[in-house]
Amino acid sequence: MNRYGWMVVRAYLPALTALAAAAVCMLWTSLFGSVESLRLLVPYVKWLPPVFLLAALVTGLVATLRLWNWKSGKTPRCAGCGGPLSALHHGAHGDYRKCLACGGKQTQSP
Ligand SMILES: [Zn+2]
Repeated sequence: MNRYGWMVVRAYLPALTALAAAAVCMLWTSLFGSVESLRLLVPYVKWLPPVFLLAALVTGLVATLRLWNWKSGKTPRCAGCGGPLSALHHGAHGDYRKCLACGGKQTQSP
């Protein structure tokens, strides 16, 4: 997989993680819901899958919008590889943006 493929995987990793957490919680309630010692936790755990699914939806939409804006040229690009840049960070040596494809730092003039 090339650099841009890994960038897309990293962009959607929070959404995939939230989906996996929702699946684990649903599996947990179906497997251990009948176990007497764990039955007290079921009312709490059953609310976690909708929360994780909502988090997966929101993080997936944010990643899609970020990649869409990069592809259509609305966001700044890395000078080295042309990848999308992150939000502005305030570092000790000045403001910078990090490239989401190659990981390089682009200093930003004030
Ligand atoms: Zn780059």
